[in-house]
Amino acid sequence: MNVDPLALLEAMAATVRAHAEELTALDQAIGDADHGINMRRGFDAIVESRDTLAGLPVGQMLQKAGMTLVMKVGGASGPLYGSLLMAIGKALPERPDLAAVAKAVEAGVQSVKQRGKSEAGDKTMLDVLVPVAEALSTAVEQGEAADRLLELVPERAVAGLEATRALRANKGRASYLGERSIGHLDPGARSSQLLIEAVCRTLGGRS
Ligand code: ADP
Ligand code: MG
Repeated sequence: MNVDPLALLEAMAATVRAHAEELTALDQAIGDADHGINMRRGFDAIVESRDTLAGLPVGQMLQKAGMTLVMKVGGASGPLYGSLLMAIGKALPERPDLAAVAKAVEAGVQSVKQRGKSEAGDKTMLDVLVPVAEALSTAVEQGEAADRLLELVPERAVAGLEATRALRANKGRASYLGERSIGHLDPGARSSQLLIEAVCRTLGGRS
């Protein structure tokens, strides 16, 4: 898995661009119809800053990218994804092994929980991020091979996304709808699942 971390950020930006309208449509149903716009603005800004990111160690690169999201995105998702990337970046050593990656992802998810004052079950991005971080840590502890992780993690992300449909939103704008939020996928859960899929595809050498 010797992949330039910039390629990971570019793959994230590409999937956000490809799915921006879908993300906005999901947010139209239970929010304010801007999730795709917010995500695209943030990830386009990351790609535009590629010259300042190129060549940095992965941890520093993710921290910078996270700061860009915090600064460029107005919606709730900017600071939340920003803290995710910043905390993952801060926790990563220069040459992370799988155990270090799993730990860093746990730290990132913890930071989203703190920033959002939210937990899995609230119908947010955490319904994807929390089970993915857990599945990754467990699989690494059990000594699963990298190839297997790259299958298992995206599968867990899809399951977490699908589970948001039945949930009632307790956080964010969708919570204003109460019971009427039930029956819709959470937009931030979909963007998390898309980002995870893109990262795993790139790490696996598939683009
Ligand atoms: P906004 O809600 O400000 O319009 P976005 O539309 O870009 O921002 O993002 C909405 C997504 O952000 C939601 O679908 C949800 O996944 C996530 N989100 C919102 N509030 C929280 C929170 N407190 N904790 C975790 N995730 C949240
Ligand atoms: Mg919104």
